[in-house]
Amino acid sequence: MDSTAFVSKVIEAIREVVGTGQVELHNPSFDGNEWLYLKECLDSNYVSSVGKFVDQFELLLANYTGAKYAVSVVSGTAALQIALKLAGVNSGEEVLLPALTFVATANAISYLGAVPHFVDSEESTLGIDVGKLREYLTANSEQQSGLCINKSTKRVIRALVPMHTFGHPSDLEQLLSITRDFNLVLVEDAAESLGSLYKGQHTGTFGLLGTLSFNGNKTITTGGGGAILTNDEALARRAKHLTTTAKIAHKWEFDHDEIGYNYRMPNINAALGCAQMEKLPEKISLKRELFKRYKEEFKSISGASIFEEPNSCQSNYWLQTLLLEDDNLNLRDSVLEASNKEGIMTRPAWKLMSNLAPYRNSPAMSLEGANSLYRRVINLPSSPDIYTGTR
Ligand SMILES: *Cc1c(COP(=O)(O)O)cnc(C)c1O
Repeated sequence: MDSTAFVSKVIEAIREVVGTGQVELHNPSFDGNEWLYLKECLDSNYVSSVGKFVDQFELLLANYTGAKYAVSVVSGTAALQIALKLAGVNSGEEVLLPALTFVATANAISYLGAVPHFVDSEESTLGIDVGKLREYLTANSEQQSGLCINKSTKRVIRALVPMHTFGHPSDLEQLLSITRDFNLVLVEDAAESLGSLYKGQHTGTFGLLGTLSFNGNKTITTGGGGAILTNDEALARRAKHLTTTAKIAHKWEFDHDEIGYNYRMPNINAALGCAQMEKLPEKISLKRELFKRYKEEFKSISGASIFEEPNSCQSNYWLQTLLLEDDNLNLRDSVLEASNKEGIMTRPAWKLMSNLAPYRNSPAMSLEGANSLYRRVINLPSSPDIYTGTR
């Protein structure tokens, strides 16, 4: 491939969609009731751990996702840490997760003293390669009295944490079947997939627990924040208790029945969240339109394609994804270099977790799929309002 000509074509195609000027990767937008609800917090002094917006936000999340319960917390990372703890992950045990993910997934496992065990990804979903994972567990694990034991490390493999990459659902049916056959607990990292459905059901509601993130770059934001989703009432109660310092409700006494966490979402963040939830359906439909526009513009460019939602899924298209055909870091970097120089913010996928300093010695299967995706993925500007002509 003539790389210079290719790079210019890619930039031209992006410009056709996003227009002129500086274009960010993903901007938040506050064009609803954000100011109103925030003012209400400030006027009432309810800015922190007490106030009506936290309960309201949790109700909105539960209704929207179809989860019976949602518990809001300070970040997506905190949500993952607590979800994994509630899933029964103990210190010294292993947890399976894709090597191709944001570092938070691996960190949350480490915070519990558990060991991340990296799994390969595949191209049709950008998520865990389920065929390869099943083969790997068949060869490398033993089932002993209801536990999955890693044959080489002798440690318990407790849980499986798929991540719905850039909003695209992983193969949840196969993942559930693997957790049943190998005695694993399913906890979904749905940080990127608020609004994404797998066979009509919201991601994050398939596992025992699922987690969301409302960081500034996500589909909706609370400044910083996250939530735990579950259908299990006892787990939801425990999640609330643990994330509110394990305090026993009382008029004045400070009594805590275990070591809890100060992870509750403050009322002002939840106020933002309530306003953002009102705009979520509109944001998602704009993001789905943006995908169609990119798809159209890139149709005539050979050597790369715009990633489309997996079969039977409806994706929020959180980050639009250009997939290069050539497994070629030089080509990828030329596109990144030229577009960023032009004022178009593009980004590569995350470096594989297994290549990061803290995780270099963690257990991992062979990662050809994830490696190839790392070398071929480029995320394109994805703010929902790019396409509406507001810029
Ligand atoms: C954003 C994100 C998280 C959570 O991040 P926070 O910034 O802690 O809210 C977790 N996992 C993935 C894959 C993410 O993209």
